[in-house]
Amino acid sequence: MMNYKVVPIPGEIASEARKSLISPQYKSLRAFPGIADGYGPCRSCLKVFDQGKDRRIYLTYNSFDGRSSLPDPGPIFIHENECKPFDSDRFPTDLLGLPIYLEAFSDDSRLVERVRMDAPAIDSQISGAFASNDVKFINLRNAEVGCFIARVERT
Ligand SMILES: [Zn+2]
Repeated sequence: MMNYKVVPIPGEIASEARKSLISPQYKSLRAFPGIADGYGPCRSCLKVFDQGKDRRIYLTYNSFDGRSSLPDPGPIFIHENECKPFDSDRFPTDLLGLPIYLEAFSDDSRLVERVRMDAPAIDSQISGAFASNDVKFINLRNAEVGCFIARVERT
């Protein structure tokens, strides 16, 4: 029984970006469609892109929306066509092979700790971070380019 859930970006943000090609949280920032030239992953289904084949949209996303008064805008990718948003009580398989930092945050997005993901130990790394009452949520972040990937919440 896992005590956490990996949560992708909100479905409304993905569908609005696909429809309008605007970053829904930043109306002055365009979203750009194109062929995937990196592994992504898609921040909705949390699967890596088939590079050179999949079409994706690049948009600007604030991963602290509703969590902190200080936004944290950054680039993310989603599939250009509608995909099935990640919904499982397991850690997303496609993310296990990526370079990832777990960033545990307290209230108002105060960073409590940052640890490099150790794929075989991911469940205990997450339980370990959530063992502290101070930790409200964990962000998964690309350990090489720094982009936000997904949020981890207690269940
Ligand atoms: Zn997708």
